[in-house]
Amino acid sequence: MIETVYIEEEIQSYPYVQKILEKITPKRIIHCDHYGEIFNRKAQNYSIQKQKPALILAKKPRHFIHETVEKRFGLPSYYFSMLYNCPFACSYCFLQGLYRSANYLFFINYEDFFQELDLFEKGYFYASHDSDALALDRYFHFVPLLIDYFKHHEKKIIELRTKSTDITPLIHREPLKNMIIAYSLNPQTIIQRYEHKTPSLDHRLSSLEKLQKRGWKISLCFDPMIMDPQWKDLYQDVFNKIFETIDPTQIFSATLGSLRFPKSYFKTILKKNRNIFLHSSLYEEKSVFRHPQEELILRITYEQLSRFVPKEIIEIQKGCG
Ligand code: SF4
Repeated sequence: MIETVYIEEEIQSYPYVQKILEKITPKRIIHCDHYGEIFNRKAQNYSIQKQKPALILAKKPRHFIHETVEKRFGLPSYYFSMLYNCPFACSYCFLQGLYRSANYLFFINYEDFFQELDLFEKGYFYASHDSDALALDRYFHFVPLLIDYFKHHEKKIIELRTKSTDITPLIHREPLKNMIIAYSLNPQTIIQRYEHKTPSLDHRLSSLEKLQKRGWKISLCFDPMIMDPQWKDLYQDVFNKIFETIDPTQIFSATLGSLRFPKSYFKTILKKNRNIFLHSSLYEEKSVFRHPQEELILRITYEQLSRFVPKEIIEIQKGCG
């Protein structure tokens, strides 16, 4: 529940802002000149804010879309985020290292965003780089806008990455062949230890099954995988479990990646996160902190997963954005 909403003066009368306020019904509305006064303020307590984040509604001047280092399926790939931060609290979340604030920041000028998107003829677009794509969409209704846009722009592929089971924006819509719903998955033991406040594996699988039956293209993301002492059995069991309900012939892609962090965020994440076991065993290599057994976990899980899905659709991720 969001109790406090900050709104930039310039946008307070926008109809989209009013619609969001009707959904949230906050206890406090505070006006500000620029979101940076709240979001980028020094000496914020991230952990305390994370318990009850406020929402900041703002207008982003430009530069919504950024190119990523690696291509996807031969296409140039890009990421964008209309929302910064997320209601879930994964111990490994890189946003802890990226932002001073745990408050939600939502940019409401979606017309400007879509104008910028028009400048790209084709590409693979990640919609949720700085948040979870579905978790708060009940307030913002941005996913339906994406569906409306991408159904008329088939040379562009969009990926919504999520752990959320709130599939309302998708389940009643006609599936798009160029929209991929990518579920982040892990064994339930790992979810309980490290993916706090997220839906259980069973709930995620139930949502995946519904979306797949409805005809949506789905991807499975095991990234980051965590080197729990029992990891080999845990990942084998989770693959077995998933393919009891999910049709392996109808998977768009499956991603494997081990826990890793860019050096620039890692020290800040350590300061904010007391989960020492998770992070203590990583070592630095070319400005990325990695697990010493990264190659092993990727090789073994690749073998395990390729018993269920074609090798051609399995992607190994080692990069950091
Ligand atoms: S779901 Fe993603 S964005 Fe949200 S806390 Fe977990 S890692 Fe971070």
